[in-house]
Amino acid sequence: MLRMLIIGPPGCGKGTQADRLSRHLGIPGVSTGDVFREHVKNLTPLGQEVKEHLDGGDLVPDSLTNRMVRDRLDQDDVRNGFLLDGYPRNTAQLAELDTMLTAAGQSLDVALQLTADDAELVRRVLQRATVTGRSDDTEEVIRHRLKLYYRETEPVAEMYSERGILLSVDGTGTEDEVFSQLLAALRTSFPAAVADAGPATPD
Ligand code: AMP
Repeated sequence: MLRMLIIGPPGCGKGTQADRLSRHLGIPGVSTGDVFREHVKNLTPLGQEVKEHLDGGDLVPDSLTNRMVRDRLDQDDVRNGFLLDGYPRNTAQLAELDTMLTAAGQSLDVALQLTADDAELVRRVLQRATVTGRSDDTEEVIRHRLKLYYRETEPVAEMYSERGILLSVDGTGTEDEVFSQLLAALRTSFPAAVADAGPATPD
């Protein structure tokens, strides 16, 4: 099993690809956005604290996010591998993840990055809004989330690139094409993990 994460701007298909990868490779997925949305839906105390940040397209404060991820990564099912979707979102969170993994005698195997140009991202998010009704899928909020991505999260990808563990894939094709490219990129560095999972089948 691999310890991996996926990074990408809003609308790049990161959530969909993360779900498929985690099912295909048999690695538990941990999506910080999904966990936060679930808390908001269930009106939990954490949900009430984070709702405004989600609605405005802002990052949830690191203190809350790091604690939530730390608790999740302490659970048994992720001891031998996980796929983080949406974390770390800034370099402070990256440092926190390093600390968590080092304390557990672990390290990250690979960071996947999905890329796409801004016009395509805005188009996709607005299309998604008609289906999911996500409160942060309006044009104004998406442009804000994109700005935050370039300012806060791109540096995370750069740091993983400097460490030699970043695999970047163009996220503009169809869902199946992007999925195949992600598997192909992973196969170059981790042939056994990908071969064990069998051939990629359309979802
Ligand atoms: P996502 O589903 O990854 O697009 O995340 C949706 C929203 O959840 C983001 O716009 C943030 O408000 C919040 N969020 C998710 N992950 C993080 C994180 N690592 N740090 C701070 N906020 C986050």
